[in-house]
Amino acid sequence: MKFDTIIIGGGLAGLICGIRLSQQGQRCVIISSGQSALHFSSGSYDLLNTLPDGTEVTSPLSAIKSLTESYPNHPYAKLGEERFSELALFAQKYLQEIGVPVQGSAKENHYRVTPMGNLKSTWLSSADFATSQSKDKLPWKRVAIFNPIGFLDFYPRFIADEFLKLGTESNIHLFNLPDLDLLRRNPSEMRSTNIARVLDKKNNLSELTQLLKRESADCDAIIFPACLGLDDDTIEIIKKEVDKPFVLIPTLPPSIVGIHTQQYLHNFFIKSGGVYMLGDSVKRAEIDNNLVKKVYSYNHGDIPFTGKDVVLATGSYFSQGLIATQDSIYEPVFGLDTSYANNRQEWYRTNMFDTQGYQSFGVKTNSSFNGLKNGRPIENLYVAGAILEGFNGIKEGCGAGVSILSALHIADTILKNANQ
Ligand SMILES: Cc1cc2nc3c(=O)[nH]c(=O)nc-3n(C[C@H](O)[C@H](O)[C@H](O)COP(=O)(O)OP(=O)(O)OC[C@H]3O[C@@H](n4cnc5c(N)ncnc54)[C@H](O)[C@@H]3O)c2cc1C
Repeated sequence: MKFDTIIIGGGLAGLICGIRLSQQGQRCVIISSGQSALHFSSGSYDLLNTLPDGTEVTSPLSAIKSLTESYPNHPYAKLGEERFSELALFAQKYLQEIGVPVQGSAKENHYRVTPMGNLKSTWLSSADFATSQSKDKLPWKRVAIFNPIGFLDFYPRFIADEFLKLGTESNIHLFNLPDLDLLRRNPSEMRSTNIARVLDKKNNLSELTQLLKRESADCDAIIFPACLGLDDDTIEIIKKEVDKPFVLIPTLPPSIVGIHTQQYLHNFFIKSGGVYMLGDSVKRAEIDNNLVKKVYSYNHGDIPFTGKDVVLATGSYFSQGLIATQDSIYEPVFGLDTSYANNRQEWYRTNMFDTQGYQSFGVKTNSSFNGLKNGRPIENLYVAGAILEGFNGIKEGCGAGVSILSALHIADTILKNANQ
């Protein structure tokens, strides 16, 4: 099977890269084993919340200089200061353009409300999320917080307590709809995805909007758990009906906003002309003369995928793009060079809130993001996203930023080389 570019892994990085390439006329395939980090994400995209030395970042565009100077292996340092800024500003417009509505800017981080009700700095948030520009204030005096009775992955009481510390009072409204009773018969069915399927039904929406209006009369915003909106138009319908801001707070995983984004980008990639092979895994590749010649997957057996370029976007440990053994970290498809501490004691700290060494282990690349094997770059193999070495997505708050920016940069490189 012949393509211009073969992308291995269909999470945020693989999809963004594939969409960009397909829109520019490339014939692309994404081969992806299964769920991605998006299915469990907050619904906000972090670019840079903290420098590796712990310094808080309010403006990623202003802080990037000091990061690129001090941490040369960081994916952002490989992009360089100028390219980082160009891509970050482009990415926020590009997401809107391809139909992922977001709020926020790389010029100044904003604050999203976490499932526990406190504020956390981020770059872009789903346009429907509760956010604030200030770290110690919310934009409302009194809010109505709703939750379906029996939904245990959302905590209105904790949220109300945190909101009070920020000067916002809350009324909590637990509600029921007859269709939710069917789920409630089995407590394990009361999960965000199942509730969304009920609340997204058009016949339940009018009852829900009536209830929201009635019970939020003395409040200036309606706060709702992000357990609806798998359907494209649900949130818009509610917003049109209620007479005040209707905003979501993420729940514990699975993430409805993340699942919706994954499905949306998947469909958009196919509409842009791409081929998405879901449920297939790449198991090995043939490399000759520092070029990937053939890629083999489980489902296609001896029939190889061939392409001018290959993008490896298989994620980190979570997605098995990286595998940890007792004494090493390896990349299973190409056997690329990886960076990790030889002394296993340096992999992790027992206090889970400390900086964990293993988080910044990953695949080594040159400054063009070509994967290295035995120290030499594979010229047509690019590495994008969470699998890369040199950054700690959790501590630095830069996970989605690294995935999106590396994917866009690699797409531009492939297009530039193809046009030469
Ligand atoms: C649980 C979790 C939650 C997160 N939440 C956030 C958040 O809220 N905000 C934020 O900024 N960052 C978050 N991150 C950081 C996250 O890494 C990035 O935001 C980003 O989504 C990662 O995208 P990716 O495409 O690089 O990797 P992934 O999303 O991990 O996607 C990799 C894909 O490759 C596939 N794959 C793996 N091996 C193969 C193979 N051999 N063949 C074919 N396919 C393969 C996997 O099935 C998967 O679909 C989170 C990370 C995790 C693990």
